[in-house]
Amino acid sequence: MKAIRRLHVRTVLPETLAPLHQLALNLRWSWHPPTLDLFESIDPQKWQLCRREPLTMLSLLSPAELERLAGDAEFVQRVQEAGAGLDRYLTQDRWYQRAAQDSTEAFGSAYAYFSPEFGLTAALPQYSGGLGILAGDHLKSASDLGVPIVGIGLFYKSGYFRQRLNAEGWQQESYPVLDPDDLPLALLREPDGTPSVISLAMPGGSRLDAYVWRAQVGRVPLLLLDSDVETNDASKRDLTDRLYGGGGDQRLQQEMLLGIGGVRALRLWSRLTGAPEPDVYHMNEGHAGFQGLERISELTQSAGLSFDEALRTVRASTVFTTHTPVPAGIDRFGVNQMAQHFGGSAQLPGVALSRLLQLGAENYEGGDANVFNMAVMGLRLGQRANGVSQLHGEVSRGMFKGLWPGFDQAEVPIGSITNGVHAGTWVDRKVFDLASEFINGDVLGSGGPWGHVDEVPTDRIWATKRELREQLVAETRDRLRKSMRARGSTSAELGWIEDVLDPDILTIGFARRVPTYKRLTLMLRDPERLAKILLDEERPVQLVIAGKAHPADDTGKRLIQEMVRFTDDPKLRHRIVFLPNYDIAMAQRLYPGCDVWLNNPLRPFEACGTSGMKAALNGALNLSILDGWWDEWFDGENGWAIPTADGVDDDRRDELEASALYDLLENNVVPTFYDTDEAGLPTRWLEMITHTLGTLGPKVMADRMVQDYTQNLYLPAARAGWAVSENDHAGARDLAASVERIRAGWPSVRVEHLDAEGVSDTPQVGESVRVHAYVALGDLAPQDVTVQVAFGRASETDELTDVELSVLQHVDSYDGGKHRFDGELELSRTGSLGWTVRVLPAHPLLASDAELGLVTNPF
Ligand SMILES: *Cc1c(COP(=O)(O)O)cnc(C)c1O
Repeated sequence: MKAIRRLHVRTVLPETLAPLHQLALNLRWSWHPPTLDLFESIDPQKWQLCRREPLTMLSLLSPAELERLAGDAEFVQRVQEAGAGLDRYLTQDRWYQRAAQDSTEAFGSAYAYFSPEFGLTAALPQYSGGLGILAGDHLKSASDLGVPIVGIGLFYKSGYFRQRLNAEGWQQESYPVLDPDDLPLALLREPDGTPSVISLAMPGGSRLDAYVWRAQVGRVPLLLLDSDVETNDASKRDLTDRLYGGGGDQRLQQEMLLGIGGVRALRLWSRLTGAPEPDVYHMNEGHAGFQGLERISELTQSAGLSFDEALRTVRASTVFTTHTPVPAGIDRFGVNQMAQHFGGSAQLPGVALSRLLQLGAENYEGGDANVFNMAVMGLRLGQRANGVSQLHGEVSRGMFKGLWPGFDQAEVPIGSITNGVHAGTWVDRKVFDLASEFINGDVLGSGGPWGHVDEVPTDRIWATKRELREQLVAETRDRLRKSMRARGSTSAELGWIEDVLDPDILTIGFARRVPTYKRLTLMLRDPERLAKILLDEERPVQLVIAGKAHPADDTGKRLIQEMVRFTDDPKLRHRIVFLPNYDIAMAQRLYPGCDVWLNNPLRPFEACGTSGMKAALNGALNLSILDGWWDEWFDGENGWAIPTADGVDDDRRDELEASALYDLLENNVVPTFYDTDEAGLPTRWLEMITHTLGTLGPKVMADRMVQDYTQNLYLPAARAGWAVSENDHAGARDLAASVERIRAGWPSVRVEHLDAEGVSDTPQVGESVRVHAYVALGDLAPQDVTVQVAFGRASETDELTDVELSVLQHVDSYDGGKHRFDGELELSRTGSLGWTVRVLPAHPLLASDAELGLVTNPF
């Protein structure tokens, strides 16, 4: 029978057990083992049945069971204590509050964090891969540190997709529908109890309505917009159905809801709860860029600012993080499509279409005039921007340097903060248990146990690694059995699965999304050589592989099929396995069970990568191309670097890099793993593990990342935002007027003449030179500019590197808008050096030399 209506009946808890509801609704349980233990202790069998999700667990309890529990004094006591523990976690001062007390400067009271996906727990599948997991980890660490973030995203009823394989090994997608009432989510409601709705204008005079769900991530609220509202027509109701579902208009409208709707949801949140308005708006990738347009529109309407003044205000308080050097990973919409959505009756008040289009225009060399680029808009809307590893920062500066013509690549104002991972989520309990046995203090706390790993005996580390491998072996067989059944095998044919993997064999993991640059099948380049490595009698190797291809990506699906066919070979299938449906739940078992984590992307397309960090925190060693985070933190002792073959064609490159991978496996990885002492311990391997945990551990923590964001970006952006806004936006008005004046006057700026005094024929280190620069400024005043002398190493073509900059002082003015600037140049270095002078715009509210993209060099 089929139901004609659904209704949701919530469990009513006896009063003494009331804290269970709070504990189940707050996602802190996803990284708090004692809370999970409490729920498990209610009924361990049901706990497995409900896939270890507290809210589902509660819904499975009958009134009789609840009554029994309420009569169990010891259980009631534990519930009360757990409830009080959560309250303390939510209200106590943490790192951020202590830092604020120790500082003489003001701290922000709220930071908005926009992301198209959030990976928090397997129970809330609102992510496709690394970007979402990172966003989830960001919120969790912000909670642990007390950083007052509010997350903004979309609620996708059908999430991303569930992956299965057919008999031929071809990826099949299904979209199980989530019922938000069964999830740890609460609908935002008006004081009278009706659901709150936010609305957006859409093309053709229509309107899009959305509900707002709140998930609570420890101390951090996460607001998720959902277009499945009765007042929308069918296509609008489906707008947020799937993550990265349709292309074209659906994608654009999802992003409008995320950005514009997201700001409206924040205003709603403040109105309903009295929460402070955010001081800073952080865009995790360009998808949420429209948040800036909505805020510009608000400012033009509420404060009477012009578009330019509002833009200056928004820029000051916006942080943009770019996440990919892969062009296909950047959203670009057609200019006509944009006009349809942001012109005419759909126009945002105060945001003229022409001004909006300029923000995303690729008006630089190599750009496409018919395209609106969301990353470019992100950079134009954010005064502060960053990539997600040092190498990615560098690559991004190269990629976007066209936006700052006249500046060296190194000066492009895109910095970097290397990603991190949330230890409480990703480190296996067995690892924490082992750490607490030997290490005093809070092993789950901010610093983690990493600094004290030397205190743990290596034989115990080795024993724990075996347990983790055992856990992975059991999980793999289980998943493989289900997958083979779904692919058409009968139970009678599956006896071989009992021999798949072995807890005493070197275990290598490889799991990630399957875009081409990640090269899933690189290891299959020479199938015989790989088979030989796997099947070695004395020193065998086993491989566990997983990954989803985007539903529209047939190339990715073909790679998966190639891999699955290889793993189907009866001669190999006990040593190499492909597991379908890579997700958080699988990842949490997979990383700890691996000895080696393999990553072989095409450098430099892996912006950072985080799976290797999660593996490292569980005592795995990385074997990876020097890309993303590994390029920065590989130190020769914490794993292996697969050399990159630059400057050859792609096929040759794959050939060379695959061959280097096999070489490393055969000559380094495998022998080290199997080189054991009398006690059976691989001493060198264990040294590498302890070194990895001790040195890499603290760096790869998301706590370190969120502290970096807070100190280097959020606090400066909050202060910049206050500076432009105070006194009725006096700063923004002045900055906008100055920028307009400076831009108009810039064509007349010229360096007319340079003079150096005190240069001897044979200059020696320690001497100084007096520099005079005669500069024509037209109508601009000396205060409108900074004149700098740049001093550095000079190449044969006179290119300067290792540049030091110092400012020349205005000393005199002459008729016709000419001025003299003087300064001292210290010859602090030896060798072949050179210097030059340049003129830049100046204003106290600009954040970097390159901000306006204006510079005048002497020639
Ligand atoms: C960590 C993680 C990722 C991202 O891994 P990368 O190394 O960045 O590719 C993707 N999916 C899941 C389930 C993860 O846990």
